[in-house]
Amino acid sequence: MIKLTCLEYYLKTYPLMLINTSGYLDHASFIASPNFDERPSDCRISLLVIHNISLPPEEFSGDGVIKLFTNQLDPAAHPYYPSIQSLKVSAHFFIRRNGTIIQFVSCNKRAWHAGESCWQGKNRCNDFSIGIELEGSDNLPFTDAQYIVLAELTMALRKEYPITDIVGHSDVAPGRKTDPGPHFDWNHYRTLLCGTNLNSCSQKFD
Ligand SMILES: [Zn+2]
Repeated sequence: MIKLTCLEYYLKTYPLMLINTSGYLDHASFIASPNFDERPSDCRISLLVIHNISLPPEEFSGDGVIKLFTNQLDPAAHPYYPSIQSLKVSAHFFIRRNGTIIQFVSCNKRAWHAGESCWQGKNRCNDFSIGIELEGSDNLPFTDAQYIVLAELTMALRKEYPITDIVGHSDVAPGRKTDPGPHFDWNHYRTLLCGTNLNSCSQKFD
């Protein structure tokens, strides 16, 4: 019996992902975040920004991130929450440790994930990017399932949008943000993308 790699197993188990013309992923559950608005009318979606998040910090599988992105975080639920309770933030996608995906904002709309940011001389990266949050932290490796799902989602997004650059939040907001952190394996991610032609896959790739 041939032992399948994770990616082969995954692709045999699940059909390829698709983003529809309204900007929704067929393989995600959708939970609407109110934290989005229209993209500028003349923008091309050319950038993918990779993040990490967990709420409470370094606790996984709970509903803290969902509550943050839907403005329902209970400040009494954890000592960390009062410091972030008033944030109005979101991302297009959240990939759990087990690889399940939640979408919060249509890709055609502007999610509020990057904040004050700049990539190659262009400010306000939210205008022209898609934000993907990986459930994790700067202090722990990500899971095999997350890399596989992230790679497949990346390929689906690139079929629909002219994405030329993939970066970490720390690349577009240096000094202010550190995610996805030192444990995010850019080499592994790019290998899973199967040689996809990109201008950059993080400045820190080599
Ligand atoms: Zn981030």
